[in-house]
Amino acid sequence: MGRQYKQSCSRCHAGPGKPCVLAEGTDASKVRPFPHDERVQPILDERKARQQTNPTVVPRPWRYEVTCPHCAQGPESRCKSPGGPHRARVERAKEYTRLQKARSQ
Ligand SMILES: [Zn+2]
Ligand SMILES: [Zn+2]
Repeated sequence: MGRQYKQSCSRCHAGPGKPCVLAEGTDASKVRPFPHDERVQPILDERKARQQTNPTVVPRPWRYEVTCPHCAQGPESRCKSPGGPHRARVERAKEYTRLQKARSQ
């Protein structure tokens, strides 16, 4: 049983733990395959609210920690390429980060 059944339904008044019924007062064998929208909506709202309070983590900006093997720019200096750092430098930086992590452990 899904968590949407934790609260009673405001539409058909199905109690907590009971599935929604087709209409209020019908016998319990005539249950709906899905709960009423009114019952599901608060859960969706809650989920949305939680996503808003937890914004996706912004990745740290690229740092020029290593010398570029391609254009020989030192740390803190940008590559001479217009479209961002050279691929070789990115790879070197990755390796550098990996080594630093290994050392700090
Ligand atoms: Zn219902
Ligand atoms: Zn470069």
